[in-house]
Amino acid sequence: MHLDQQTIAVVMMVFFCGTLIIAAGLVFALRASTAGRLWAFGHVLVSAAGLALAVSAASGTGQLGTLGAFVFVAGWLLIYRGVRVYYGVPAHPGALAGAGAIVLGLMAVSSGLPEGPQLVLRIVYGVLALLSLATFATLARAGRGRRSIGAPLVLVASLVQLATQLAGFSHAMSLPAGGTAAAPLTLYFAGPADSAWVLAPLIATLLGLFGFTVMAMEQIVAHNESGARIDALTGLLNRGALEMSALSLVARWQRDGQPLSCLVIDIDYFKQVNDTCGHHAGDAVLREVAQALDNSRRASDVAGRYGGEEFCVLCPATDEQQASALANRVLRKVHAIDLPGGRGHASVSIGVAQLRGGPGSREALWRTLFADADRALYHAKAHGRDRYVLASSMAAPAASAPAAPLLGPEPDLAG
Ligand code: GH3
Ligand code: MG
Ligand code: MG
Repeated sequence: MHLDQQTIAVVMMVFFCGTLIIAAGLVFALRASTAGRLWAFGHVLVSAAGLALAVSAASGTGQLGTLGAFVFVAGWLLIYRGVRVYYGVPAHPGALAGAGAIVLGLMAVSSGLPEGPQLVLRIVYGVLALLSLATFATLARAGRGRRSIGAPLVLVASLVQLATQLAGFSHAMSLPAGGTAAAPLTLYFAGPADSAWVLAPLIATLLGLFGFTVMAMEQIVAHNESGARIDALTGLLNRGALEMSALSLVARWQRDGQPLSCLVIDIDYFKQVNDTCGHHAGDAVLREVAQALDNSRRASDVAGRYGGEEFCVLCPATDEQQASALANRVLRKVHAIDLPGGRGHASVSIGVAQLRGGPGSREALWRTLFADADRALYHAKAHGRDRYVLASSMAAPAASAPAAPLLGPEPDLAG
């Protein structure tokens, strides 16, 4: 298929008008994601430059050629930076800006030379090919193993862009120096006019724009989902997420019969901290206690804030005795937290329970486990605080008088 220069320019004008409007809208729609903002703004630059170049080519003046090509490259630099930001790899904005300035300088110097148009073509195609390669490599390396719908689309788009730019680069290299033979070549960002690649980059740009949008949306959705599960003050799971985890751990306990234990932890005399030092100071103590819990637990344990100054840790494959070792670690770590206003150190009381057999739904089993640990916590409070109590060491709830010993082992604060 052979398309003349005018037809190609008109197609590109219509195309870039459309992507400019879409990208401008995406600047607002994706503002919650840093990478999304970079991609949307990069596409605004790419589309505006593409439109200017197409208008310039259609009018036959070519006046906007060098400037438009530079803005086009700057847009792709932003898009590449967005990919690095997205995957949390160093984005080196200073180095990218420096590279952009060097490209601009080279283009400015080259355009003044007799063979300027060919040199500018080679520079632009070469730089764009490098950017497509770098984008592809970053996506392939950093995105490996992640589930995403958008990333494969961008990967394919980068490959098509790369193939087009290499075709354009080799065509630019074959042009005779000094002549105006650049004219039959289409605009900087398209393939050679008489090649099969002529409109491929437009499709790739559209595919990439869609892929980047999906990636940004995936990131925003994941962020919102984790926000709905995490307690904003302490960073631990919130009560809803904790209970969801509890139900699945109970289901696992039903399947494989491995012991499941639960710690319910309550900060001692916490109201006094708030009353004497203020809620901000109280919040800071809450955060430090949560940190101490998080640092004490094993990776497979699940820690959450049950409410107020009360926390819960669920320990799969752990019996009550093993869970008491965790309780000791927590007591020791919380002792290291200084209370504000020179009021000594923080302390917590802990109830420890293990899930015992019995009929009932997962919900009922979880409620029983929590109630056992909560009752043990109550005993720890009643018998002096700053200690843990094992639920198994207490009398059954129905018993009229508690049988000795009520308390579990004294905390081993030395070990
Ligand atoms: P005890 O040793 O019996 O547990 O005494 P306590 O003072 O810790 O228990 P109490 O239930 O009387 O007080 C709990 C306090 O926790 C009251 C409430 O204001 C405070 N609290 C609950 N949530 C938060 C929070 O998010 N931030 C702060 N700063 N305080 C909170
Ligand atoms: Mg308390
Ligand atoms: Mg409490």
